[in-house]
Amino acid sequence: MNEVQSFLLEGCGIRGALVRLEETWQQVIALHTYPPDLKRLLGESVAATVLLASSLKARPRVSIQLQSEGPLKLLLIQCTEDLRVRGMAQCEARALGEPWFSGGRLAVNVDMHGPNGFFQGIVPLVSPHIDECLEAYFTQSEQLPTRFVLKSTERRIGGLMLQALPGVSFDDENFRTAATLAQTVSTEELASTAADALLPRIFTGYDIRLFEARPVLHDCRCTPDHLASIVRLLGEDEIESLLGDPGCVEITCEFCNRTFRYDDEDVAAIMRGETPAQLLH
Ligand SMILES: [Zn+2]
Repeated sequence: MNEVQSFLLEGCGIRGALVRLEETWQQVIALHTYPPDLKRLLGESVAATVLLASSLKARPRVSIQLQSEGPLKLLLIQCTEDLRVRGMAQCEARALGEPWFSGGRLAVNVDMHGPNGFFQGIVPLVSPHIDECLEAYFTQSEQLPTRFVLKSTERRIGGLMLQALPGVSFDDENFRTAATLAQTVSTEELASTAADALLPRIFTGYDIRLFEARPVLHDCRCTPDHLASIVRLLGEDEIESLLGDPGCVEITCEFCNRTFRYDDEDVAAIMRGETPAQLLH
Protein backbone atom coordinates (compact mmCIF):
# COMPACT_ATOMS: atom_id res chain seq x y z
CA MET A 1 0.00 0.00 0.00
CA ASN A 2 1.54 3.29 -1.12
CA GLU A 3 -1.43 5.58 -1.40
CA VAL A 4 -3.44 8.44 0.03
CA GLN A 5 -7.21 8.66 0.06
CA SER A 6 -9.47 11.58 0.93
CA PHE A 7 -12.82 11.26 2.63
CA LEU A 8 -15.69 13.32 3.99
CA LEU A 9 -17.64 12.83 7.17
CA GLU A 10 -20.93 13.77 5.56
CA GLY A 11 -23.18 16.39 7.06
CA CYS A 12 -20.79 17.65 9.72
CA GLY A 13 -18.33 19.83 7.79
CA ILE A 14 -15.30 17.60 8.35
CA ARG A 15 -12.96 16.31 5.69
CA GLY A 16 -10.12 13.86 6.10
CA ALA A 17 -7.34 11.97 4.42
CA LEU A 18 -5.67 8.65 5.07
CA VAL A 19 -2.14 7.82 3.94
CA ARG A 20 -0.22 4.54 4.09
CA LEU A 21 3.27 4.09 2.65
CA GLU A 22 5.45 1.02 2.63
CA GLU A 23 7.96 0.69 -0.28
CA THR A 24 7.83 4.47 -0.82
CA TRP A 25 8.81 5.00 2.82
CA GLN A 26 11.58 2.41 2.67
CA GLN A 27 13.02 4.16 -0.38
CA VAL A 28 13.13 7.49 1.50
CA ILE A 29 15.35 6.01 4.23
CA ALA A 30 17.13 3.28 2.21
CA LEU A 31 20.72 4.53 2.39
CA HIS A 32 20.49 6.51 5.63
CA THR A 33 21.38 5.36 9.12
CA TYR A 34 19.10 7.59 11.16
CA PRO A 35 18.70 6.85 14.88
CA PRO A 36 15.38 4.99 15.42
CA ASP A 37 13.48 7.86 17.02
CA LEU A 38 14.67 10.32 14.35
CA LYS A 39 13.53 7.83 11.70
CA ARG A 40 10.15 7.79 13.40
CA LEU A 41 9.96 11.59 13.36
CA LEU A 42 10.96 11.64 9.69
CA GLY A 43 8.27 9.05 8.89
CA GLU A 44 5.60 11.04 10.72
CA SER A 45 6.68 14.15 8.81
CA VAL A 46 6.56 12.36 5.44
CA ALA A 47 3.04 11.10 6.23
CA ALA A 48 1.92 14.59 7.28
CA THR A 49 3.35 16.26 4.17
CA VAL A 50 1.55 13.82 1.84
CA LEU A 51 -1.67 14.43 3.78
CA LEU A 52 -1.26 18.19 3.36
CA ALA A 53 -0.49 17.91 -0.37
CA SER A 54 -3.42 15.61 -1.02
CA SER A 55 -5.93 17.69 0.91
CA LEU A 56 -5.68 20.77 -1.30
CA LYS A 57 -7.84 20.83 -4.42
CA ALA A 58 -5.35 22.93 -6.42
CA ARG A 59 -2.82 20.07 -6.20
CA PRO A 60 0.12 22.23 -5.10
CA ARG A 61 3.68 21.27 -4.35
CA VAL A 62 4.00 21.17 -0.58
CA SER A 63 7.09 21.11 1.59
CA ILE A 64 7.64 21.27 5.30
CA GLN A 65 10.90 22.50 6.72
CA LEU A 66 11.83 22.27 10.36
CA GLN A 67 14.86 24.16 11.64
CA SER A 68 15.69 23.85 15.29
CA GLU A 69 18.26 24.92 17.83
CA GLY A 70 18.32 21.34 19.15
CA PRO A 71 20.35 18.43 17.73
CA LEU A 72 18.05 18.21 14.71
CA LYS A 73 19.33 21.00 12.49
CA LEU A 74 17.06 20.47 9.50
CA LEU A 75 14.20 18.25 8.49
CA LEU A 76 12.90 18.77 4.98
CA ILE A 77 10.09 16.91 3.23
CA GLN A 78 8.91 17.76 -0.28
CA CYS A 79 5.88 16.42 -2.11
CA THR A 80 5.07 17.28 -5.74
CA GLU A 81 1.65 17.89 -7.27
CA ASP A 82 1.57 14.29 -8.49
CA LEU A 83 2.47 12.99 -5.02
CA ARG A 84 6.14 12.17 -5.50
CA VAL A 85 7.85 12.56 -2.19
CA ARG A 86 11.38 12.84 -0.79
CA GLY A 87 12.71 13.75 2.61
CA MET A 88 15.84 14.12 4.69
CA ALA A 89 17.06 15.04 8.17
CA GLN A 90 20.37 16.54 9.29
CA CYS A 91 21.33 16.15 12.92
CA GLU A 92 24.18 16.42 15.37
CA ALA A 93 25.02 14.18 18.32
CA ARG A 94 22.69 14.67 21.25
CA ALA A 95 22.73 14.09 24.98
CA LEU A 96 20.85 11.11 26.42
CA GLY A 97 17.14 11.90 26.67
CA GLU A 98 17.47 15.24 24.89
CA PRO A 99 14.59 15.93 22.49
CA TRP A 100 15.53 16.16 18.80
CA PHE A 101 14.20 19.64 18.40
CA SER A 102 13.46 22.73 20.44
CA GLY A 103 13.53 26.46 20.03
CA GLY A 104 13.14 26.64 16.28
CA ARG A 105 10.52 27.03 13.59
CA LEU A 106 8.41 25.04 11.23
CA ALA A 107 7.75 26.39 7.74
CA VAL A 108 4.98 25.04 5.53
CA ASN A 109 5.37 25.99 1.86
CA VAL A 110 2.52 25.62 -0.60
CA ASP A 111 3.32 26.27 -4.27
CA MET A 112 0.24 26.51 -6.51
CA HIS A 113 2.38 26.90 -9.70
CA GLY A 114 0.75 30.18 -10.80
CA PRO A 115 1.40 33.89 -10.25
CA ASN A 116 0.87 34.78 -6.58
CA GLY A 117 0.45 31.11 -5.97
CA PHE A 118 3.15 30.66 -3.35
CA PHE A 119 2.28 30.67 0.28
CA GLN A 120 4.59 30.21 3.25
CA GLY A 121 3.40 29.89 6.81
CA ILE A 122 5.87 29.82 9.69
CA VAL A 123 5.16 28.83 13.26
CA PRO A 124 7.45 28.35 16.25
CA LEU A 125 8.07 24.76 17.33
CA VAL A 126 5.58 24.62 20.17
CA SER A 127 5.98 20.94 21.02
CA PRO A 128 8.49 18.09 20.60
CA HIS A 129 5.85 16.34 18.45
CA ILE A 130 5.44 17.14 14.76
CA ASP A 131 1.65 16.58 14.81
CA GLU A 132 1.17 19.23 17.49
CA CYS A 133 3.46 21.68 15.65
CA LEU A 134 1.41 21.23 12.47
CA GLU A 135 -1.85 21.62 14.35
CA ALA A 136 -0.51 24.89 15.74
CA TYR A 137 0.34 25.94 12.18
CA PHE A 138 -3.25 25.39 11.07
CA THR A 139 -4.65 27.22 14.08
CA GLN A 140 -2.40 30.25 13.49
CA SER A 141 -2.07 30.43 9.72
CA GLU A 142 -5.31 29.05 8.36
CA GLN A 143 -7.59 29.13 11.39
CA LEU A 144 -8.85 25.70 10.44
CA PRO A 145 -9.23 23.17 13.23
CA THR A 146 -7.02 20.24 12.16
CA ARG A 147 -5.91 17.01 13.81
CA PHE A 148 -3.21 14.57 12.77
CA VAL A 149 -2.67 10.98 13.86
CA LEU A 150 0.76 9.90 12.61
CA LYS A 151 2.35 6.46 12.97
CA SER A 152 5.79 5.49 11.81
CA THR A 153 7.67 2.20 12.00
CA GLU A 154 10.76 0.83 10.26
CA ARG A 155 8.59 -0.84 7.60
CA ARG A 156 5.59 1.40 7.16
CA ILE A 157 4.16 4.80 7.90
CA GLY A 158 0.56 5.85 8.14
CA GLY A 159 -1.40 8.97 8.91
CA LEU A 160 -4.89 10.26 9.36
CA MET A 161 -5.85 13.92 9.07
CA LEU A 162 -9.14 15.52 10.03
CA GLN A 163 -9.93 19.10 9.16
CA ALA A 164 -12.89 21.43 9.31
CA LEU A 165 -14.09 22.16 5.77
CA PRO A 166 -13.23 25.77 4.92
CA GLY A 167 -16.26 28.03 4.66
CA VAL A 168 -18.69 25.51 6.13
CA SER A 169 -20.24 25.97 9.54
CA PHE A 170 -19.46 23.09 11.79
CA ASP A 171 -19.92 21.95 15.32
CA ASP A 172 -16.86 22.21 17.55
CA GLU A 173 -18.09 19.42 19.76
CA ASN A 174 -18.57 17.18 16.72
CA PHE A 175 -15.02 17.87 15.57
CA ARG A 176 -13.63 17.02 19.00
CA THR A 177 -15.58 13.75 19.00
CA ALA A 178 -14.28 12.78 15.54
CA ALA A 179 -10.71 13.73 16.57
CA THR A 180 -10.99 11.58 19.69
CA LEU A 181 -12.20 8.65 17.58
CA ALA A 182 -9.29 9.15 15.15
CA GLN A 183 -6.84 8.84 18.06
CA THR A 184 -8.11 5.31 18.78
CA VAL A 185 -6.60 3.84 15.61
CA SER A 186 -3.71 1.44 16.28
CA THR A 187 -0.46 1.40 14.31
CA GLU A 188 -1.30 -2.08 13.01
CA GLU A 189 -4.82 -1.13 11.88
CA LEU A 190 -3.58 2.03 10.22
CA ALA A 191 -0.89 0.12 8.38
CA SER A 192 -2.84 -2.80 7.04
CA THR A 193 -6.62 -2.38 7.02
CA ALA A 194 -8.35 -1.36 3.76
CA ALA A 195 -9.77 2.17 3.90
CA ASP A 196 -13.38 1.09 3.30
CA ALA A 197 -13.16 -1.21 6.33
CA LEU A 198 -10.95 0.98 8.52
CA LEU A 199 -12.80 4.30 8.36
CA PRO A 200 -16.26 2.95 9.33
CA ARG A 201 -14.57 1.10 12.18
CA ILE A 202 -12.92 4.30 13.46
CA PHE A 203 -15.80 6.70 12.80
CA THR A 204 -18.68 4.54 13.95
CA GLY A 205 -22.06 6.10 13.22
CA TYR A 206 -20.74 8.65 10.70
CA ASP A 207 -21.76 8.70 7.06
CA ILE A 208 -18.44 8.45 5.21
CA ARG A 209 -17.83 9.38 1.58
CA LEU A 210 -14.55 7.89 0.38
CA PHE A 211 -12.74 9.24 -2.68
CA GLU A 212 -10.46 7.36 -5.01
CA ALA A 213 -7.00 6.41 -3.74
CA ARG A 214 -4.01 8.15 -5.32
CA PRO A 215 -0.58 6.47 -5.55
CA VAL A 216 2.36 8.08 -3.69
CA LEU A 217 5.84 7.39 -5.06
CA HIS A 218 9.37 8.20 -3.97
CA ASP A 219 11.25 10.43 -6.39
CA CYS A 220 14.55 11.89 -5.34
CA ARG A 221 14.98 14.01 -8.48
CA CYS A 222 18.79 13.51 -8.55
CA THR A 223 18.66 12.73 -12.28
CA PRO A 224 21.78 12.85 -14.54
CA ASP A 225 20.56 16.22 -15.89
CA HIS A 226 20.12 17.69 -12.43
CA LEU A 227 23.52 16.44 -11.24
CA ALA A 228 25.21 17.83 -14.36
CA SER A 229 23.64 21.22 -13.68
CA ILE A 230 25.11 21.16 -10.15
CA VAL A 231 28.59 20.42 -11.54
CA ARG A 232 28.23 23.38 -13.93
CA LEU A 233 27.37 25.63 -10.98
CA LEU A 234 30.63 24.80 -9.17
CA GLY A 235 32.71 27.13 -11.33
CA GLU A 236 36.01 26.46 -13.08
CA ASP A 237 38.32 27.15 -10.13
CA GLU A 238 36.59 24.76 -7.80
CA ILE A 239 36.30 22.05 -10.45
CA GLU A 240 40.01 22.37 -11.26
CA SER A 241 40.89 22.09 -7.60
CA LEU A 242 38.68 18.99 -7.10
CA LEU A 243 40.07 17.28 -10.19
CA GLY A 244 43.58 17.86 -8.78
CA ASP A 245 42.73 16.48 -5.36
CA PRO A 246 40.83 14.14 -4.79
CA GLY A 247 40.98 13.69 -8.57
CA CYS A 248 37.26 13.71 -9.20
CA VAL A 249 34.13 15.74 -8.55
CA GLU A 250 31.88 14.02 -6.05
CA ILE A 251 28.29 15.01 -5.37
CA THR A 252 26.29 13.47 -2.55
CA CYS A 253 22.54 13.79 -2.77
CA GLU A 254 21.35 14.75 0.71
CA PHE A 255 17.93 13.23 0.14
CA CYS A 256 18.83 9.70 -1.01
CA ASN A 257 22.42 9.76 0.34
CA ARG A 258 23.93 8.40 -2.88
CA THR A 259 27.31 9.75 -3.95
CA PHE A 260 28.04 10.35 -7.62
CA ARG A 261 31.58 10.66 -8.98
CA TYR A 262 32.79 12.41 -12.14
CA ASP A 263 36.35 12.22 -13.52
CA ASP A 264 37.95 14.82 -15.80
CA GLU A 265 36.43 13.30 -18.94
CA ASP A 266 32.96 13.32 -17.40
CA VAL A 267 33.40 16.93 -16.31
CA ALA A 268 34.59 17.93 -19.79
CA ALA A 269 31.48 16.27 -21.26
CA ILE A 270 29.26 18.11 -18.77
CA MET A 271 30.87 21.42 -19.70
CA ARG A 272 30.10 20.66 -23.37
CA GLY A 273 26.45 20.42 -22.37
CA GLU A 274 26.29 16.62 -22.28
CA THR A 275 24.99 14.52 -19.41
CA PRO A 276 27.22 11.50 -18.80
CA ALA A 277 25.80 8.57 -16.87
CA GLN A 278 26.53 8.99 -13.18
CA LEU A 279 29.10 6.76 -11.59
CA LEU A 280 27.85 5.69 -8.23
CA HIS A 281 30.52 5.75 -5.61
ZN1 LIG B 1 18.99 11.58 -4.56
